[in-house]
Amino acid sequence: MSDMFDCAVIGAGPAGLSAALNLRQRGKTPCILGNTSTLLAKAERVDNYLGLPEISGQKMMEVFESHVRQAGLNIQPGRVVNILPMGDFFMLNANSQILQARTVILCGGVYRGAELPGEVQFLGQGVSYCATCDGMLYKGKKVVVWGLSESAVEEADFLASLGCQVTYVAASEPAGKHGFAFLKGRLSAVEGDMKVTGVQVGNETLACDGVFILREGVSPAQLVPGLETQNGHIQVNREMATNIPGLFAAGDCTGAPYQVAKAVGEGLTAALTAAAYLDKLNKDQGGKTNV
Ligand SMILES: Cc1cc2nc3c(=O)[nH]c(=O)nc-3n(C[C@H](O)[C@H](O)[C@H](O)COP(=O)(O)OP(=O)(O)OC[C@H]3O[C@@H](n4cnc5c(N)ncnc54)[C@H](O)[C@@H]3O)c2cc1C
Repeated sequence: MSDMFDCAVIGAGPAGLSAALNLRQRGKTPCILGNTSTLLAKAERVDNYLGLPEISGQKMMEVFESHVRQAGLNIQPGRVVNILPMGDFFMLNANSQILQARTVILCGGVYRGAELPGEVQFLGQGVSYCATCDGMLYKGKKVVVWGLSESAVEEADFLASLGCQVTYVAASEPAGKHGFAFLKGRLSAVEGDMKVTGVQVGNETLACDGVFILREGVSPAQLVPGLETQNGHIQVNREMATNIPGLFAAGDCTGAPYQVAKAVGEGLTAALTAAAYLDKLNKDQGGKTNV
């Protein structure tokens, strides 16, 4: 069994880093999961964050990260594909590794991947978001990997190494030698009957037994079963608590305005609420200690 963290913070943007820092200051053990190549790094200039005028988004992220690292926290790069509420703790699948945390703060930003027709219908019936979790099911079979994330090539190589017949679909051909066929394009639908039989790429149907859709993020509702959302945003109260006990959310993922100051403030609030929740849990369980 893996270590039990006090809190898993999903996303290393302004909201996630603020949440993690404030958890640390409350004496909790957070783990931060996510890539630091966030949206903010694309902003040429941020002019409305108090105290840091005329700063580039890239520089702002560097300042935030450096503060968090000075507090003794590390950022574990990668993607969380599944979070299961287990009562008084959560099991998370991050980079194909299972982690446990007593609370979770979702800080994944705005989810931009539009669902494909057939995607949800065939989820678990040929549609997967994680090669390491489901790859063995497709040994010797035809699979399509739609590469929309940084780690997609690695996951396609992993499937090929298992003996899957992999077709990698992406906007551009990955450099280097790989054990898969490449097709330039994008998926427009998943097709099937009881389970997946093919995917549409442009005007053609590509026959396959499974499709791995590897986006950078996963929609909040797919990430946590039972999570309440509205128009793609996670529903929270003023304490940043969701409808699931122990699960909190902060930043762009909870809705507009999509601004750094709001993300940082909500990260703080979520951290304080999570810390109070943990203290109560500890008291109820008779002072259980953490890693
Ligand atoms: C070009 C541009 C200019 C902008 N200018 C300004 C400005 O001037 N002022 C201002 O206040 N705001 C500005 N913004 C908005 C600002 O960047 C966002 O409001 C802010 O970054 C939100 O922070 P966040 O932490 O909520 O989300 P994000 O910064 O989006 O960070 C979320 C992170 O979580 C990661 N993630 C998502 N899902 C998962 C998962 N399943 N597992 C692991 N990681 C995951 C994402 O990859 C991302 O790295 C600008 C944005 C852009 C794009």
